Amino acid sequence: MTGPEPETKMQFLFALRSRGVTDKRVLQAMEEIDRGVFVRGIFANRSYEDMPLPIACGQTISQPSVVGLMTQALQLSPRDKVLEVGTGSGYQAAILSRLVRRVYTVDRHARLVLEASEAFATLNLTNITAMTADGSFGLPEQAPFDRIIVTAAAEDPPGPLLAQLKIDGIMVVPVGQSDAVQTLIRVHRTEAGYDYEEIRPVRFVPLLEGLGKDG
Ligand code: SAH
Repeated sequence: MTGPEPETKMQFLFALRSRGVTDKRVLQAMEEIDRGVFVRGIFANRSYEDMPLPIACGQTISQPSVVGLMTQALQLSPRDKVLEVGTGSGYQAAILSRLVRRVYTVDRHARLVLEASEAFATLNLTNITAMTADGSFGLPEQAPFDRIIVTAAAEDPPGPLLAQLKIDGIMVVPVGQSDAVQTLIRVHRTEAGYDYEEIRPVRFVPLLEGLGKDG
């Protein structure tokens, strides 16, 4: 694994900082994880640009600055158990895995879960469990979670995910219609209920029901 040129990486980190990713631990994780491992095929040489890129099954790997901002918004602690809905390439899960104890990530496409698992093995990231499932139901057998991150847009935060959040837990989720600008929301579960906070406009692929055609 060679990874990018030092100058390419410097520019990458500069772009992240200039777009508001300021958390030192998040920047360090993004410096350590080679995004090139998660981008296959003809776009591999563009993996250090701050852009979303196409991956298999018609999906996208998120823009790095959005990954950074979402990770930062989760306010992670090293002991956290985190659920990600929408494994995609596995890049977001890999960043999370450097910052918390355990990451569970689910995607409705079996092929993406397989390819992401290969990337985790390549990078020797052993605290991630990737599974094929409809993540709108969460992962009841591992609930509750300290943190939940949804990387596909829902019309509203799915009820089962809200229910699987610990008291004092945080969920970050893009909400809105799939073909319009969506809003990234942070949900904080308290003893009394749920507090909602808008973070910024974003654009994600939609959260869909059921499993993908490949499994
Ligand atoms: N986090 C990813 C990007 C995710 S793209 C990365 O770092 O690369 C959104 C992903 O959400 C797609 O892979 C899509 O298959 C998945 N998805 C959409 N609806 C889903 C659902 N109900 N359950 C699980 N995954 C879903």
